[in-house]
Amino acid sequence: MNDYEAVIGLETHIQLNTTTKIFCACKADSWFDPPNTNICPVCTGMPGVLPVLNKAAVEKGVVLASAMHAEIRPLSYFDRKNYFYPDLPKGYQISQYDQSLAFGGYLDLPVPPANGQPAYIRKVSIHKLHLEEDAGKTKNAGNERLIDFNRCGVPLVEMVTGPDLRSADEAAQYLMRLRQLLRWLGVSEADMEKGHLRCDANVSIRPRGAAYLNPKTEIKNVNSIEAVRSAIEKEIERQIREVEAGHRIEAWTLEWDEDAGVLRKMRSKETEADYRYFREPDLLPIRLDDAWKADILKALPELPLVRRQRFMDAYGLPEYDADILTSERNLSNYFESAVKAYGSDPKRVSNYLMNDVLRMLNESSKTADQLRLTPLFLAEIIKLADTGAVNTSTAKSLLQKVEESGKAPAEIVAAEGLAKVSDDSAIRAVCLEVLAESPKEVESYKAGKVTLMGWFVGQVMKKMRGKADPTLARTILEELLA
Ligand code: ZN
Ligand code: MN
Repeated sequence: MNDYEAVIGLETHIQLNTTTKIFCACKADSWFDPPNTNICPVCTGMPGVLPVLNKAAVEKGVVLASAMHAEIRPLSYFDRKNYFYPDLPKGYQISQYDQSLAFGGYLDLPVPPANGQPAYIRKVSIHKLHLEEDAGKTKNAGNERLIDFNRCGVPLVEMVTGPDLRSADEAAQYLMRLRQLLRWLGVSEADMEKGHLRCDANVSIRPRGAAYLNPKTEIKNVNSIEAVRSAIEKEIERQIREVEAGHRIEAWTLEWDEDAGVLRKMRSKETEADYRYFREPDLLPIRLDDAWKADILKALPELPLVRRQRFMDAYGLPEYDADILTSERNLSNYFESAVKAYGSDPKRVSNYLMNDVLRMLNESSKTADQLRLTPLFLAEIIKLADTGAVNTSTAKSLLQKVEESGKAPAEIVAAEGLAKVSDDSAIRAVCLEVLAESPKEVESYKAGKVTLMGWFVGQVMKKMRGKADPTLARTILEELLA
């Protein structure tokens, strides 16, 4: 393996989360619907119908292109891609060919450290970015072939990277970052299991450090990031075996069989000429003037990797924290609002988020903006802990109480009498009570089992419902037992 490097390019199809399909008024998302219920004469390719372009699909495509730093064409065209397949009722797919919506662009992919290698940035170039319609879906059921046209006409962006990835792991990292970006931008649900994000991988190998490209194979039908990783790993191993045995790599199309964990040879690939592309005569070109483009892009948010770096630079967060806090846009907004409300020490806010708020999010399957524990309330609770108004364990339980009730932390503290008891005489009285009730433990302690101190403190805390200042309780107990 060390004598070779892999050369991988990914072709992704991204389902845009528009309300309706790209050329008709049918609902775009059919995930929960029975087969062939979201269809009409346009998306099933009946004679005499005309497509009408969905403006929202263009706008989401422009947002994505811009986030990938791609060049956006002021004038782009639709083309017919002709091929014959049962799930394509028109006999052609409306796509974009030579004058696509956008071209060029890149993603600076941060690759985390692994196997003793330090972290690095892999620049992944984007060759082409275009809009197209999805085809239907065929399924084998016994001796029958079933066709579901629901997905016909669902808006897609096809995005093709250059041959820039060098391992199965880098390919997986790219897909994770792409999924993060798509959700961050709000242009796709990017759920691979639901086919919102689909990926074909082109794989070849060459001697490490070589600059030329060898014939590649194409892997199709991979439905999860883990499957992409496994399939590419298997294919790299296979190609190395072939080359070492003195065989040539042939340009096969391979299909990943998820259940068996193996790649199978499919048809040999069609070439571009087989598709007989020509301009779609039923659609006008997309004219993206400066005003429209500016209007679309004014809502473009700060990008996740930019925000990740800013969290490190501006707040002094470790990369680990910055990465998790920017995994999702709502969460990163939540963090910034909480830091603002708290006013200092972003790392302290980050700790509360990473330990407690994230657990809360996982358990409730809410997003950060849906929490009743608002950033303002979180900041208030941390401040209550800072000033000693409540002890740390009360602060932690307050998080849950605020989330359940939606009430302000100070209100809950007052109503439930949760304020930390730092009154020496009140704690002393409870300490005396505990010692009087535990003669055996007192004896063992005096005989040298000093580890019992923790137990005594625990008993005092229990009797005072967690409100005692534990440090003060320990001091008093030590004094009384001495
Ligand atoms: Zn339709
Ligand atoms: Mn395509």
